Amino acid sequence: MSSTDPKPVRLRLDPLGYENLRQVVLRRDGWRCQSCGSMSNLEVHHQQFRSHSGDDSEENLITLCTICHSETHNTVTLHGQKQP
Ligand SMILES: [Zn+2]
Repeated sequence: MSSTDPKPVRLRLDPLGYENLRQVVLRRDGWRCQSCGSMSNLEVHHQQFRSHSGDDSEENLITLCTICHSETHNTVTLHGQKQP
């Protein structure tokens, strides 16, 4: 084996790698919710589900606060269920 450490080809990120990716996304988005601009209670949201070719990649992630994040999921549910 060589001394260089070959990176595994795109598998699910380990917790440390994921945390690292979150930091990258948060920094890219300026530590602001990309929906309302809040700078507190930030979370990183997957724009596409993993089953729809949604990778753990920077482009697939967006910074949202907890409120907008839950609204995003509520919206998805409403669209799916068609409230009367
Ligand atoms: Zn927000």
